[in-house]
Amino acid sequence: MPRHVQLWHYTCDHAHAAIGAVGTLHTIGVARYIWLTDLAEPDRDALGLTMRLVTCDRTAHRYRVMGDPIVYRYSDVRLGDFTATERDGLEGEPGALLRHWWIAPGPVPVLYDPIPARAARRIR
Ligand SMILES: [Zn+2]
Repeated sequence: MPRHVQLWHYTCDHAHAAIGAVGTLHTIGVARYIWLTDLAEPDRDALGLTMRLVTCDRTAHRYRVMGDPIVYRYSDVRLGDFTATERDGLEGEPGALLRHWWIAPGPVPVLYDPIPARAARRIR
């Protein structure tokens, strides 16, 4: 089913250096999914990308999802694919907006598409 919505992947300096300008995202380590969003501007709280647990700024760089990879809306699969403990950890941060969360098992083709300066300034 076509999703009719542009999805984005936000990430940190380190991952950006590894991915480059054009790349394909795969799950890393024990992660089951690649996290995506339909928000064209990064919102740290809405995306759950606070820096409380991870010190990297994972809203530093934006990638545009290309093509038509397999994706799921988090809210559609959260009960079947995530344990209650996982959901609590993911959803528990104040301001988290689950309706903007999408996940993909990978691979996900992406193109580097820097955050517009106006949006980047607003969140700093
Ligand atoms: Zn990093």
